[in-house]
Amino acid sequence: MSEKADRVVGCCGYAATTNNRSTFLRIAVEERRMQQRIEQLRAQLVARDLGAMLITAPANRYYLSGFSGSSGALLIGPETAILFTDGRYRLQAAQEAPAWTLRETALPTNPFSRLVAQAIAELHLERVGFEAAEMTVAAFSRLRQALNANDVTAELVPTDGLVEALRETKDAGELATLREAIAMTDTVMTTVLPMLRPEMSERQAAWLIEQTLHDYGADGPAFPIIVAAGPNSARPHHRSGSDHLGLSRPIVIDMGARLRGYHADLTRTVVLGSPDARFHNIYAVVLEAQRRAIVGMRPGLSCADADALARDHIAAEGFGDAFSHSLGHGVGLDIHEGPSLRRVADAAKSPVLQPGMVISIEPGIYLEDWGGVRIEDLVLLTDAGCTVLSQAPK
Ligand code: ZN
Ligand code: ZN
Repeated sequence: MSEKADRVVGCCGYAATTNNRSTFLRIAVEERRMQQRIEQLRAQLVARDLGAMLITAPANRYYLSGFSGSSGALLIGPETAILFTDGRYRLQAAQEAPAWTLRETALPTNPFSRLVAQAIAELHLERVGFEAAEMTVAAFSRLRQALNANDVTAELVPTDGLVEALRETKDAGELATLREAIAMTDTVMTTVLPMLRPEMSERQAAWLIEQTLHDYGADGPAFPIIVAAGPNSARPHHRSGSDHLGLSRPIVIDMGARLRGYHADLTRTVVLGSPDARFHNIYAVVLEAQRRAIVGMRPGLSCADADALARDHIAAEGFGDAFSHSLGHGVGLDIHEGPSLRRVADAAKSPVLQPGMVISIEPGIYLEDWGGVRIEDLVLLTDAGCTVLSQAPK
């Protein structure tokens, strides 16, 4: 089938997708939130002298439009909101993104470059931003060729993190979903821990957690579940394998629920049988480091200073080199998103915490040949400080 079959589906409106009042209201509220996000992005376009912005990162597309299909792109201008997708998603796109003008490509494998180039030509755009971190070299050159074929000289301008920056602070709808995913994650952790046995393999334990996440209503795990036993727990991102959980050694369990696109993240370190004195000592240091970070986190603090709240304590206890990663990260439509609580070479360039951010606080100590301890909770930055959202016992 040729690209000539591409067609404009048009704006679908709200009424056709709703069949009762509460559904209508929910969609209306979500649409208003998305409209606010689009307006924030439009303000960024004006500031950067961009006529429009091409969005190709799936999480950003979902954030701005609500469209969750695997194939799509957005073109957003001052008065333009076009959603490009293919025929497989015709109904879904109309339902999930009713306010958007849909343009549909004929084949799932057919890139959107021709449709995007046509839209850029129709709108007489001179400067179009694109997401540099997401656009492949191949996609860029296809788009450039399609523009050239239409005699369009529009400049394609790389941008970095425009939508990601908006996503760092969560609105009420996002917070509600995150709280639901976090509560589900707490329940699963609390349910599974008493079921663990020394003879179970890491992989069996991870699978048990994954099944239980589904049992409690998650769409799936937020990321490949980490169960790391004994010396394996010294590797912060260990891949669960065939080693047994064993007795009297640390087991790091890092998991979370994915729910309607949003991610939870929780780590507990446990021991089956009796922990040794070293475990007690290291666990206490990590727990105190986390406590200090939770007490000290507040809007206006830089991410580097937030990291130091925990890191300084761990270093003072003699484990500075054993805390080998950043203190935490934002969560939302991605499991790792901004801001990142970490040290930076130039402290003045460290981002500042703001109310509405949902961030993990996850100090750890990792000792080769022995193992590791990590404790991770999610917190919400508030005007007054931070509220711990994770409730699984430590
Ligand atoms: Zn985690
Ligand atoms: Zn994390």
